[in-house]
Amino acid sequence: MNYEGNIIRPPSEAQSIILQVTVGCSHNKCTFCGAYKGIRFRIKDPATINSDIAFASRYCINQKRVFLADGDALIVPSPRLEEIFSSIRKNLPWVNRISLYGNTKSILRKSVKELQKLKELGLDRIYMGLESGHDPTLRNINKGVDAGQMIRASEIIREAGLFFSVTVLLGIAGKAQSIDHAIETGRVLSKMKPNQIAALTLMLLKNTPLYNDFISGSFLLPDRNMLLEELKMLVESIDIDQVQFQANHASNYLPVSGRLSRDKGGILNTINEGLNGMLHLKAECQRAL
Ligand code: SF4
Repeated sequence: MNYEGNIIRPPSEAQSIILQVTVGCSHNKCTFCGAYKGIRFRIKDPATINSDIAFASRYCINQKRVFLADGDALIVPSPRLEEIFSSIRKNLPWVNRISLYGNTKSILRKSVKELQKLKELGLDRIYMGLESGHDPTLRNINKGVDAGQMIRASEIIREAGLFFSVTVLLGIAGKAQSIDHAIETGRVLSKMKPNQIAALTLMLLKNTPLYNDFISGSFLLPDRNMLLEELKMLVESIDIDQVQFQANHASNYLPVSGRLSRDKGGILNTINEGLNGMLHLKAECQRAL
């Protein structure tokens, strides 16, 4: 496969064929994100993508899913995405699920009809990084959109009938706004009503502006207990009947997961046990992205 730069995918796509259709991220300005720093965004040329699909048709016959990389594959214009999806369908007929990352601006540029057409051609789920529902935090991290736009994007995806997975980031608001971030994020998620919520915990990367803020003292990282309080407040603030909640990523200090609202009490009990010292919290060296 013709991979360029860092290939990043959601943990749940570990077994998928990774087909890189873009290089980098069309936004590439979030202050915490070091994934594509220094990489100029571009859509890969059709010949390279076709050659990767041909490779997969020979060597990936046991993989039933395709994930389109990189950071924002949904930015690719719909007619080109339709060609790629049609080619996957024709050349990899055993594939039963296609997924990709889509940031808020890319989703808002697509109509419900366009997404429904992609769904007919095999698109199953869109992963979106919300990070926070707290507008001051979104401004601070240079996310480029506000909570209202994210809620509108979620309405388009839900109307198109696609599975919607949203990632939020514990610690991203720093110490001062930690609880406001948790409450607002829970409120916005409750309006977005995704199918899946993944709560990761911020890990500072040296090639990012946020790391420089941390070194200069203008960004204060919450400690482990504050992050657990933040997680607790987030879970308490989510008011959705049916959503898979996962805070069991390698970056999290205390793994919790379950189905909300059914498992809310159990998840909160586990977090309280972590706060009371009754459960082991991951050491810093055990965390990873
Ligand atoms: S939109 Fe996603 S991939 Fe792009 S810079 Fe922000 S966090 Fe990184």
